[in-house]
Amino acid sequence: MKNNNLERNGYTVQRLENEVPLAEYLTDCVDVPKFLAFCRECPNYGAHWSCAPFDFDPMEIWGRYDRLRLVALVLLPGEDMDLEGMLRALPVERDRLLEELLELERANPGALALSGGSCTRCQRCTRLDGAPCRFPERMRYSIEALGGDVGRTASQYLQKPLLWIQDNTVPAYMMTVGGLLLKEQA
Ligand code: SF4
Repeated sequence: MKNNNLERNGYTVQRLENEVPLAEYLTDCVDVPKFLAFCRECPNYGAHWSCAPFDFDPMEIWGRYDRLRLVALVLLPGEDMDLEGMLRALPVERDRLLEELLELERANPGALALSGGSCTRCQRCTRLDGAPCRFPERMRYSIEALGGDVGRTASQYLQKPLLWIQDNTVPAYMMTVGGLLLKEQA
């Protein structure tokens, strides 16, 4: 597993990477019915094109690939960073991660990027109006939207458990986990 640190204004970003055979990942971390039930409780359910329910079976997507390269950005707050600052920084880093994954996708023919969360590119997702996605070339599904257990992924494959905000205080770190689905070279 690789890791590098990047200094930002008020926080540091630690980059974690690991590559996992997909068959192993599916056994350990993917359970579509279980996570679909959680999605149904989320306000984004049916409201973003990147979120469930889908008109396809997520297992069909997983089934087209052989490996998953996981890429996570861990945001470590500086001494003066408050919770609001961290909550502003997280989507910025999530977008940066998606840009990087889209670049990797272009460099690896047949690959598919998985974003670090649901798509928030537009203020109002066109799904709410029954219209097609405005930016299908940039919209990517997240691991959790396809039934992946991000908490377990982070602990087991990145050795960094997810932390939750408690009592409105800044956690020791916040993180976003994305990936790149890859096929074996022919
Ligand atoms: S790019 Fe816009 S329209 Fe497409 S899923 Fe994201 S928010 Fe919705």
